Amino acid sequence: SNQNLFAALRGAFPRDLDAAAIETDSGLVYSWRDLERATAMLANLLQSLEIPAGSRVAAHTEKSVEALVLYLATLRAGFVYLPLNTAYQAAELDYFIGNAEPAVVVCASKNFPWISKLAFQKGVAHVFTLDDDRTGSLLERASHFSDQHEPAVKAADDLAAILYTSGTTGRSKGAMLSHGNLLSNARVLKDHWDWQPGDVLIHALPIFHVHGLFVASHGALLNGSKMLWLSKFDPKAVVERLPRASVFMGVPTLYVRLLQEAGLTREACAHMRLFISGSAPLLIETFRDWQTRTGHTILERYGMSETIMLTSNPCRAEDGDRIGGTVGPALPGVGVRVVDDAGTALPVGEIGNVQVRGPNVFGGYWRMPEKTAEEFTADGWFKTGDVGRFGADGHGYLTIVGRSKDLIITGGYNVYPAEIEGYLNDMAGVAESAVIGVPHPDFGEAVVAVIVPKAGAALDAEALVAALKSRIANFKVPKRAFVVSDLPRNAMGKVQKNLLRDTHQALFT
Ligand code: ATP
Ligand code: MG
Repeated sequence: SNQNLFAALRGAFPRDLDAAAIETDSGLVYSWRDLERATAMLANLLQSLEIPAGSRVAAHTEKSVEALVLYLATLRAGFVYLPLNTAYQAAELDYFIGNAEPAVVVCASKNFPWISKLAFQKGVAHVFTLDDDRTGSLLERASHFSDQHEPAVKAADDLAAILYTSGTTGRSKGAMLSHGNLLSNARVLKDHWDWQPGDVLIHALPIFHVHGLFVASHGALLNGSKMLWLSKFDPKAVVERLPRASVFMGVPTLYVRLLQEAGLTREACAHMRLFISGSAPLLIETFRDWQTRTGHTILERYGMSETIMLTSNPCRAEDGDRIGGTVGPALPGVGVRVVDDAGTALPVGEIGNVQVRGPNVFGGYWRMPEKTAEEFTADGWFKTGDVGRFGADGHGYLTIVGRSKDLIITGGYNVYPAEIEGYLNDMAGVAESAVIGVPHPDFGEAVVAVIVPKAGAALDAEALVAALKSRIANFKVPKRAFVVSDLPRNAMGKVQKNLLRDTHQALFT
């Protein structure tokens, strides 16, 4: 049978195709029939271009329902979707278009002059425009096509999308995800997060990344659930919609910003069923503040571009408690292990490299066979690059303590930044912190802390360091600390430690 992900999503559309599928922030309502017809017309347009099988369709477009439709239509037509962060400029696009060699590029009309020039130079055959007000050459061309279309027949292993990683630790890599990767994970999450008839999702995330494009959109579509669609995250707009919604997904920074809204109350959240966080670590303080303010316990989960979702705190009460600071146990069907540098499994409680396998794990990095080979073990497990430990507390939940690239080795000792950050964050007046390693002539690397004060708090970096000295081993204590107003973050709320390391790299040399 056809393993096309789109066919499975469409199969979950409710019987009443005239029901509302998506309501936008400007009050436009799209029915399921609208999605069905619009994806058919776009799929017909894509197929009319006579581009080869396996062609990539790259989208550098603002978030809109039509941009989501373009994704679904690409699946439907059997091509490979390639979303690009709209913040990317010429240098980045040059790399992505050169690396992925898409047959089709879709961009905002304001960017058409430079993107089309770059794309044509690189041999891209078709460049269309799509704006967030339902205009542009893509829709104009599609309007001439039939609204009937039979989804392309796909095998589970066929490529569905290439997602470039966020580039937090280096140059972005294109993760090749198949129809089977995406569908198996969406099905597991539908069950694990207990999607209910009548659930309504507030969709406030960008759709160029795993979280908004796959986890959020697939979740709602596979459940035939309505989405309240926000083209940009706006805390007030989210709070306003809570009484009409039941599920919300956000990166940690969204939760922090929502907590600053006076309207975020127990009453406002009374109708909500589930708040999910991921993409970056959720501070325990945010987790607790959210419980106090709303009565809800945020469900934290862990995943990545290469694997979609890997672990999740429980959703149903009978499956266990949600524990702050952990990302829960492996999802059903997913294998997660923690090993030392030699690849030997470590006992529960010990920190090591997180490796994973399962039907959700990608086939490899686009056009990087060597990198792909490096990142898989001989027995087929993917090396996530994250460092973690399973809880020794009987729950067996995984805690991510950081990335192996952020691990600091000072005077031969390993220092896990998350541990030091945890101590700092607990100190009075500290909002958050980032601990990094920078070159040091004697120690190899030296521990450096960058600390953000709470609003109105005056912090003395030296005093914080002095306070740490009585609590942790001396080699872990930052040699220098800086107080700053905020940490550099990317669009997904990830702290960009590479930028911090650049800033402080000459501190000791
Ligand atoms: P790159 O691979 O290019 O350096 P990236 O790893 O940030 O970038 P993504 O695939 O977007 O790109 O992010 C996956 C990473 O996000 C994970 O490897 C992990 O480090 C982090 N992450 C995701 N969810 C969580 C979580 N709940 N807690 C801690 N970290 C998380
Ligand atoms: Mg990564």
